[in-house]
Amino acid sequence: MSGDNPALLELARAVLSEGLICDHCLGRQFAKLSTGTTNRERGAAIRLVLAMIADMGDDELLKSEITLPKRCWVCNGMFEELDSWASRALDRLGNLEYMTFLVGTRMSGLLSENEELLWETTGTDYAEPLKSETNREVGKLMASVTGKEVDFTEPDVVCLLDISHETVSLQIRSLYIYGRYQKLVRGIPQTRWYCRECRGAGCERCNFTGKMYPESVDELISVKVIEAADAADTTFHGAGREDIDARMLGDGRPFILEVNDPKKREIDLKMLETEINEYCGEKVIVTNLRSAEHRMVKELKAAAHDKVYLATIPCAGVNRDTLAWALKDITCEISQRTPVRVLHRRSDLTRMRRVHSTLLESFSESDDSAVIRIECEAGLYVKELISGDGGRTAPSLAGVLGVDVAVTALDVVAVKG
Ligand SMILES: [Zn+2]
Ligand SMILES: [Zn+2]
Repeated sequence: MSGDNPALLELARAVLSEGLICDHCLGRQFAKLSTGTTNRERGAAIRLVLAMIADMGDDELLKSEITLPKRCWVCNGMFEELDSWASRALDRLGNLEYMTFLVGTRMSGLLSENEELLWETTGTDYAEPLKSETNREVGKLMASVTGKEVDFTEPDVVCLLDISHETVSLQIRSLYIYGRYQKLVRGIPQTRWYCRECRGAGCERCNFTGKMYPESVDELISVKVIEAADAADTTFHGAGREDIDARMLGDGRPFILEVNDPKKREIDLKMLETEINEYCGEKVIVTNLRSAEHRMVKELKAAAHDKVYLATIPCAGVNRDTLAWALKDITCEISQRTPVRVLHRRSDLTRMRRVHSTLLESFSESDDSAVIRIECEAGLYVKELISGDGGRTAPSLAGVLGVDVAVTALDVVAVKG
C-alpha cells in the first residue's frame, strides 16, 4: 500500500464521508501503516493533508467533511474523557498494593456497532480496534501519574473500564504461597468440608456451622494469611491429602495457598510463618513459606510423591515372627480396587501400586499393639493394604495372615520428592 498514495487518500476520504470523526478514530483506521506515533497525531496529519488538497481544489464537500467535529460519531467523544477514565481507575485502585497493571475495556454495544459500520467501508487491513487504543491511552495516563508499569502478560491488577456503566472494576491477581505443613492432631480434615446436608447454608445436622468439621488445616493456616494480605479468601492446594484421622508428621506435606483478591502483596513470609504457628497452637505447624507462582499449583497436584507411613495395628494372637514374615509378602506390587469408604467420591477402578518397603517398628503383646513402617508409591490406600477391604486390595496383611486386622492409628511420616 505504501507508495500507492492516491488509494490511501481515497480510503481516508471514505472514512471522513461516513460522518464527523475525531483524530483518534481517523488515525486508528490507519494504525498499522505507521508506527511510532499516536492515532491522534496520525489522524491530525491525514486531516491536514486532505485539508491542503481541498484548498487546492476548492472542494467544498471535502472541506466540510474534514472539519474536526464537536462530537465524533465513532467513539461518541470518548477520547475527550481519557483523563476522567484514568482518574476513575485510580480512584478504584485506592491504596491497593501493586507493581504492574493493565487496562481492559468492556465496550458499549453502540461503540462496537459504530466501529463495525466504519469497517464495512474501510475494511480492517490497517485499523486498530477502538478498545486497544482506549486501553493503551488510559494506561499511559495512569502510568505517568503512578510510575507503575503496564504488564501485558501477568499484571498484578487489571482495571476493567465498563463504558456503558461508566464504572471500573478490578481483577486482582492471586498471590501464591508455598510451604509444608505438619498436622499434629487427628480428626482435622485438610480442607474445609461443607456439610453434606445443607452444603454450607447451616442446618441442625451441622449445628448451623455449615461444616462437617469445625476446623481444617486450610482454615487454621489461612486466618493469618488473609489478615496479612488483606485478602478476600484463600484456596488450599495440597500435594495429596492424609485421612482426617491420620497425623501428618516428619517434614510435613507440601502445599500452595492461593490468596484471592489480596490488597497487600509485600508480605514478610518469615513473620507470617511465626504468626500462623502461634495461631494454630499445637495442631498445625507450617515451615518453609516462600512465594510461588500459579503454574506451580499444577506441578504440585501432578507430582506423585512416595509416602512413608507408620500404621498401628492390634497384635494379640499373632506371633511376632509370623507378622514380620507376612510383611515381606505385602512388599510388592499391590492390586487395589477403589476402597469402599471412598467410593462415594471416586470412581470404581483397580490400580496397581507398589509397596517399596515394610518394617516392623515395634511389637508389644502386652499393649496389643504393633507399629509397621510402610514406604509406598503415591495413591496407595494404606488402611486397605492392612485390612484387605473385603478382598478389594490384594495382597493385604489380613489376607496373608488369614485374620481380620484393621489400622487403629495412622501417621504419615514423610512425603518424599
Ligand atoms: Zn472518535
Ligand atoms: Zn448443615
